[in-house]
Amino acid sequence: MINVYSFGAKDKTKTGLVSIVLFIFLFGLFFSLPVQARGSSPVQITIEGQKVDFDVQPYIDKQNRTIVPLRFISEKLGYSVGWNSDGREVTILGENKIIKLWAGKKEALVNSQEVSLDTYTTVIRGRAMVPLRFVMENLGVVVDFNPNTKVVNLVKEPTNKNSHRSETDVGLVKVSNSVANLHSGPGQNYTIIEHAKKGEKFLVTGATNSWYQVAIAGGKEAWVMKKEVTPVDLRNPSEPNPPKPVPAPVQPKDPQPLKGKVIVIDPGHAKIQPGGWPDPGAVGPTGLQEKDVVLAIGRKVVEKLMAKGANVFITRTGNTTLTLAGRAQIANSNNADMFVSIHMNSNLNPSYNGTAVYYYNGNQAAQNKELASVLQNHLVQSLGLRDIGIIAESFAVLRYTQVPAVLVETAFISNPEEEKLAYTDSFREKAAQGIVAGIEAYLTK
Ligand SMILES: [Zn+2]
Repeated sequence: MINVYSFGAKDKTKTGLVSIVLFIFLFGLFFSLPVQARGSSPVQITIEGQKVDFDVQPYIDKQNRTIVPLRFISEKLGYSVGWNSDGREVTILGENKIIKLWAGKKEALVNSQEVSLDTYTTVIRGRAMVPLRFVMENLGVVVDFNPNTKVVNLVKEPTNKNSHRSETDVGLVKVSNSVANLHSGPGQNYTIIEHAKKGEKFLVTGATNSWYQVAIAGGKEAWVMKKEVTPVDLRNPSEPNPPKPVPAPVQPKDPQPLKGKVIVIDPGHAKIQPGGWPDPGAVGPTGLQEKDVVLAIGRKVVEKLMAKGANVFITRTGNTTLTLAGRAQIANSNNADMFVSIHMNSNLNPSYNGTAVYYYNGNQAAQNKELASVLQNHLVQSLGLRDIGIIAESFAVLRYTQVPAVLVETAFISNPEEEKLAYTDSFREKAAQGIVAGIEAYLTK
């Protein structure tokens, strides 16, 4: 919920003002910083001999390692990347590797195996900067540094499409048994954390001989037996048993509209306020918190978008210190294709129910409205709740965004029926499916 009319509005204005001041201050700070870190020296990057231009310059750091913007990995080399500015966590999805790095840390995870680096990921002008050689070698890109010319040349190894897929060469798995147990570790003797239903999909983050490690809600990880799931081939979307024959499209459309698109997902609320108390957003009649529901939906959206080849930025995975302007700034500084904020609505009248999408009738109003309308259609189709329609509103998180931006109110947490729904994984899954289908449809137009 985003409250504009009630007593909360005054506080919001004040917070807004503080945010603007803080934002301007931080913005000033960014620009007063030298683009290159101290003690570093410039370096030129080429891909198969072709010079690459950067807005934030790569450099050689004090540890003698070449550091490049994360965006370079996605834009110039075509890998899916994620940057979570809240957890300061970088995710890079290779063909058979999932690499995780954290700003300020020398430890990385490669398919869940901890690796120590001799340098670290950092943030310059709001951009994640990653160690080039470490990332490239894990992605199978050959790095050739010429110390005389200070040129780093990258050569992508030819991929053999017919090569046998390795153990963890799996992006997503789907539960094939009627139910699968998710354990805290790779073995039957580990605690069962959750039961997953048939058809549920999970992002694989690691593997042993007979277990997959998968990402689950709440930023956590769990283990599932390989024999209880089947891999979903990300490079070949047709699954062993295609559910329905799809009618031939009237006109040829981009088969992968999400590939390479930069999308910012903002699960609303959970901002840590001055004084340290978190903002849970709205709370349902039995105590369900909006922040938890929208985070679960947001994580599902992120996994689905990444599986379709998008570069996804999530504004939080737990509590965040980001202001509304800060959330919008993630979209602006990453030149995102769109910004989608996810919420649950609330009203003093418990009978209010249904789905609505809000847009800002200011910057890029036409695109905002179009995106809102496409998303609303898909959400209503997917969730089957009352169609409230699209509504123009001047929410700060939308106002500060310079790319197409919308705010989704999936359902009313204040309505007992819809609160009950919001507890269920099926509601969260449908909401995520509706959002992803809407994003895809908007990009296909
Ligand atoms: Zn909200």
